[in-house]
Amino acid sequence: MRPTVLCFSGLDPSGGAGLQADIEAIGQSGAHAAIACTALTIQNSQQVFGFEATSKELLLAQANAVIDDLPINTVKSGMLGTTDNIFALSEFLNEHADLNYVLDPVLVANSGGSLGDLPTLVEAFKILIPRATLITPNTVELRALTGCENLQDATQKIFELGAQAVLVKGGHEKLPADLLINRLYIQGQLVHESEQPRLDGEFHGSGCSLASFIAGRLALNDSLEKAVDIAEKWLFRALQRADVPHADGQRMPRRFI
Ligand code: PLP
Repeated sequence: MRPTVLCFSGLDPSGGAGLQADIEAIGQSGAHAAIACTALTIQNSQQVFGFEATSKELLLAQANAVIDDLPINTVKSGMLGTTDNIFALSEFLNEHADLNYVLDPVLVANSGGSLGDLPTLVEAFKILIPRATLITPNTVELRALTGCENLQDATQKIFELGAQAVLVKGGHEKLPADLLINRLYIQGQLVHESEQPRLDGEFHGSGCSLASFIAGRLALNDSLEKAVDIAEKWLFRALQRADVPHADGQRMPRRFI
């Protein structure tokens, strides 16, 4: 069986983000996706209306049902929704110290909608930061996690919080206006920088897709640099071809390439 990534992520009924993004991206990476569902959200391509989080017990029961059954060597987390779920995941990762772990520190939806209580999530995420093989914050998440406005300070601070490797995604930065720049740091050192033309429009689930594709490639034994590089190229194509639901909706990445 293909190496498997176990994703802790929420359901987005629009199919753009969350666990559907994870399943499609990981499938495209060549690995298999298993899901422990953290929350059912109510949202469409325009906004989040609410969510109901899974209980800690139900979340762990899902993860435990598959961990000794499938060839899982990597965990990826997206929306966790509650501090209880963050602590449950931390417990699970402590029991399985050999697993790669990609932490996508989801705090709010790209549309701006709430996916949990921001200050408590930020605090609780600190328990996961040192355990992650890779953390994939956008610049809004990086600033929120570290409390630093300046990006260099924020990057230094996340390593002080125990991070091993961090991919800082530039999609939310206004400058440069025509380029999107991502930077991968390992142990505080810049090891990879990518520049891509900035695409028009807002995308739903781009962060989930990128983190999951990387997790899939790590499950298949790529190095971090290689996994990030091919995931960025794959995501660019998925975004170039994204579906536009209507003028007011965020674009849906077309992940089957
Ligand atoms: N996970 C879920 C369940 C979501 O609903 C969202 C956003 O709506 C995200 C994660 C984050 O999505 P993005 O990749 O757009 O940051």
